[in-house]
Amino acid sequence: MPGKRIVLTSDATMMSSYHGGVLLGFAAIMPASVMPDWIFRPLFCPPAPAGADGSALIAPCGMRKVEAALLESGFAREEVMVAHPDHLDKAIGPDTEIVGITHDDPLGKIAVRELEEIIGRGPPHNRSKFLALVSHPLIRKHRPKIVVGGNGAWELMGEEVGVDHIFLGEGESDFPEVCRRIMRGEEVPAVIRGRVVSGDQIPINRGPAIAGIVEIGRGCWRKCAFCSPTMRTLRHRPLENILADARVNLRNGQRDILLHSEDVFTYGSAGMKPDEEKVLELVRRVKHLGPRSIDVSHLSLATVHQSQNLLRKVSEAVGVGSDQSYMSAWIGIETGSCRILEMHMPRKALPSKIEQWPEMVRDSYRLFDEESWLPVASLVLGLPGETAQDVVQTIELVESLKDYTGLMLPLFFTTIADTRLGGIRGFGKENALPEHWQLVGLCLEYNLRHLKRLHRLYSERMTAGPIVHAALTGINLLADKVLNKYLKRMKRGEPPN
Ligand code: SF4
Repeated sequence: MPGKRIVLTSDATMMSSYHGGVLLGFAAIMPASVMPDWIFRPLFCPPAPAGADGSALIAPCGMRKVEAALLESGFAREEVMVAHPDHLDKAIGPDTEIVGITHDDPLGKIAVRELEEIIGRGPPHNRSKFLALVSHPLIRKHRPKIVVGGNGAWELMGEEVGVDHIFLGEGESDFPEVCRRIMRGEEVPAVIRGRVVSGDQIPINRGPAIAGIVEIGRGCWRKCAFCSPTMRTLRHRPLENILADARVNLRNGQRDILLHSEDVFTYGSAGMKPDEEKVLELVRRVKHLGPRSIDVSHLSLATVHQSQNLLRKVSEAVGVGSDQSYMSAWIGIETGSCRILEMHMPRKALPSKIEQWPEMVRDSYRLFDEESWLPVASLVLGLPGETAQDVVQTIELVESLKDYTGLMLPLFFTTIADTRLGGIRGFGKENALPEHWQLVGLCLEYNLRHLKRLHRLYSERMTAGPIVHAALTGINLLADKVLNKYLKRMKRGEPPN
């Protein structure tokens, strides 16, 4: 088996259907000693379906973009393959020159890193599976060049893990040329920075994306100090290209569509004010294609707050309450402290004033609740300069939201290379104040309280059968019991172990 010249793939934590519930993918942050593979894979990360030729029939949206860019740049279909990680024997051979890996969190540095520190029971699945992939026997045997890209590629900077090239930034304009240079045997730097492409240069996918993701634009003008610079130039794709991606998904068996950008309500607008007509046209045209459900990936709370009627109209256009029972969106609360907002996220509340932030968050949660939207919120703990008083303000904000259904993810501040806070040391267990533990405990309590309802609601989108649902319910109950002792300690302001 000669193999494909360029093999695009990732490990099992990225190449999964997640039973149609992408949040299940978060289980990848658990260590195998706590959640062994025989629970993790069937219940949380079931393998993506595979074709007879070893291809992955669904793949991360970013990998689909790179595949499309390679084909558009002149590579032949026979040279490029999106390969299933369980069937690399059908993809990698003596002719394979490049293995391109897309990853969001290859070393487990982003997603709830504190869990690893709290539990202290070894590496999480995402890290161990990524490391196993880069030392796959066929890669060791045929020695293709390994190029890692995607949102989490920065985690590999300065790490000796057997990767030849780290590709930061966007892949469409430069990755095809990088491949050609590698194939010609030319010198290629260890770290490559891909240039930003314009919205209309973002290619149309050649195959379906996991979770039915459809990218509508890239970038964010709010410029938070800890956020990746690739998010800084705001661009949107032409509506027809977005619809073409949605059709590719729906034609190939995906039933749900997840519209993705850093702030979906900014679609089509260049400034702070959403262009209502463009957002509504987008949603209505996607709805017209007949998906079972539509969700949005990310929303800025400030945009939601200034355009509450838009959210109501989007709910109506999607058919929340009639065609689907809820909509979900990821949002960034990050902090309850206006002082921290001023220091690191001065544009976060615009066009409102920074001092209105806690009230804006509460108003938005009230609206989400009225309109049956489920917020999955992130908090950043330990930003430089954060004091106990700042954390207390975040605790008070979270306390005030506790009756609204959702998820709250407390993330330790991690320095992402090339961000404004990139040179500063990340936050760890050793720096945590009692208030930080209280906040983590509070978030854990909030999540455990709402998990059962979330599971019930998410079942609407999930493809899992009754056995998997019963097992997940059992794990919910078990988590309640096991985590309770940690929760009590943390709520007293003590470290969990
Ligand atoms: S609002 Fe979100 S996406 Fe935009 S810069 Fe801040 S953290 Fe990044």
